[in-house]
Amino acid sequence: MHVPTLEQLQRIASYTVSHLPDDVFDLARRFESAGHELALVGGPVRDAFLGHASHDLDFATSARPEETERILAAWGDTHWDVGRAFGTIAARKGDSVVEVTTYRTDEYEVGSRKPSVEYGDTLEGDLTRRDFTVNSMAVRLPSLEFVDPTGGQEDLAAQLLITPAPPEQSFDDDPLRIMRAARFAAQLGFDVAPETMAAMTALAPRLEIVSAERIRAELERLLTSRWPRKGLELLVYTGVADIVLPELSKLQDAVDPQHRHKDVYEHSLTVLEQAIDLETGPDGAVPGPDFVLRFAALMHDVGKPATRRFESNGQVTFHHHEVVGAKMTRARMRDLRFDKQSIKDVTKLVELHQRFHGYGEAAWSDSAVRRYVTDAGDQLERLHRLTRADCTTRNRRKAMRLAAAYDDLEARIDELAEQEELAAIRPELDGTQIMEILQIPAGREVGAAYAFLLGLRMEEGPIGEDAARERLEEWWSTFSGR
Ligand code: ATP
Ligand code: MG
Repeated sequence: MHVPTLEQLQRIASYTVSHLPDDVFDLARRFESAGHELALVGGPVRDAFLGHASHDLDFATSARPEETERILAAWGDTHWDVGRAFGTIAARKGDSVVEVTTYRTDEYEVGSRKPSVEYGDTLEGDLTRRDFTVNSMAVRLPSLEFVDPTGGQEDLAAQLLITPAPPEQSFDDDPLRIMRAARFAAQLGFDVAPETMAAMTALAPRLEIVSAERIRAELERLLTSRWPRKGLELLVYTGVADIVLPELSKLQDAVDPQHRHKDVYEHSLTVLEQAIDLETGPDGAVPGPDFVLRFAALMHDVGKPATRRFESNGQVTFHHHEVVGAKMTRARMRDLRFDKQSIKDVTKLVELHQRFHGYGEAAWSDSAVRRYVTDAGDQLERLHRLTRADCTTRNRRKAMRLAAAYDDLEARIDELAEQEELAAIRPELDGTQIMEILQIPAGREVGAAYAFLLGLRMEEGPIGEDAARERLEEWWSTFSGR
């Protein structure tokens, strides 16, 4: 990756920020006229340095929430309270959505789950309490003056995540920042500075006090990022995974017989990356980033360590690891307070990931193919991708054989679906209607009329009952079999 210099980064950031919508500059002048400061902070400033214009525009202000609300109400189309206790008011005007938060200095009670908030008086004070130096930069508006009290620009140029305060203190104050380090490493592709990483390791157990919802949100962002492997390896390496996703760390203990040189952990990360490569564009069947597919790929083999058996013939087996793995996945996702639908979908994929095994050896009957499709239900497109991704053998011939077998299965699914769609086609008038219209009793002629209508339906598609009736009468008047 080409790493830009500090000067190049500053040019990019200035350019991006100067193109903020006019409405935003108008808002900044309103704060200024009221005697208050307004600055763009955090994510959007960091993203400006990376050349991305943000859609989430987060601001910090010297104004207290009541003042902020008054100014936003006069400026926006609508405004709402995001968390008055935290001093955040949001507003929308046209396409711009802004969140404005009063300067803060956080106070933490030892052992508490949530920080208590104190309002602060300076932008610099607000910035230094943030999680990482690259997130602790601001741009004052409307003057466009950059404020970077913690050296965020240098760290951004060096692609490093560093806490502004000593990392032990920072992570002790709010242990969620430990998860956020891994999340930003995954999103930005940055490294975590050595001391910061050491503090992640030392303070990982403090994550026990963080609510499951906050941990889940960071895990979800990590997994749907550009470099999830990077974030996951960091979680495992620092021991954070032992607390938030122990199933992942434990994968390092199970050796997979099919890949004797690779452990299941390495295999799972590779399957995750291969599954990501099979995600589709926005209009495709599995638009990326797809959390469900990714998490299923990561978790598909978590049942292996618990089911590993050394057989008397020297073979290693993992009987029913997909069933055990599905149970473990469900339990973990429940603990992390995932929504019911995601739990159901991921669990189903883990449970079905082995089903395709053996397809190449013993031919599947049509009913076996149908059962595969019915069991997968609305997860079929994801299951196709998970199963194809679950092949990490270095043996090219074996990989090609498996891919060809899956091509064959998908072709049979299509073929059966087509046949069954055709089989489900009925003429637009049924036997009773035919007898009534033509005034004939049941018999051979009704059969002939039915066949005529079915042919019509196949040829011309649905034409409506009235038209079908006319065509039937027309056909009857010329029917010679009478
Ligand atoms: P994203 O692009 O994912 O929204 P972001 O940097 O905006 O990234 P947010 O979670 O929206 O991240 O938080 C906004 C800003 O608030 C961060 O940039 C950071 O400065 C600060 N922040 C958020 N959470 C914490 C925390 N737990 N401790 C300290 N600062 C935080
Ligand atoms: Mg944000």
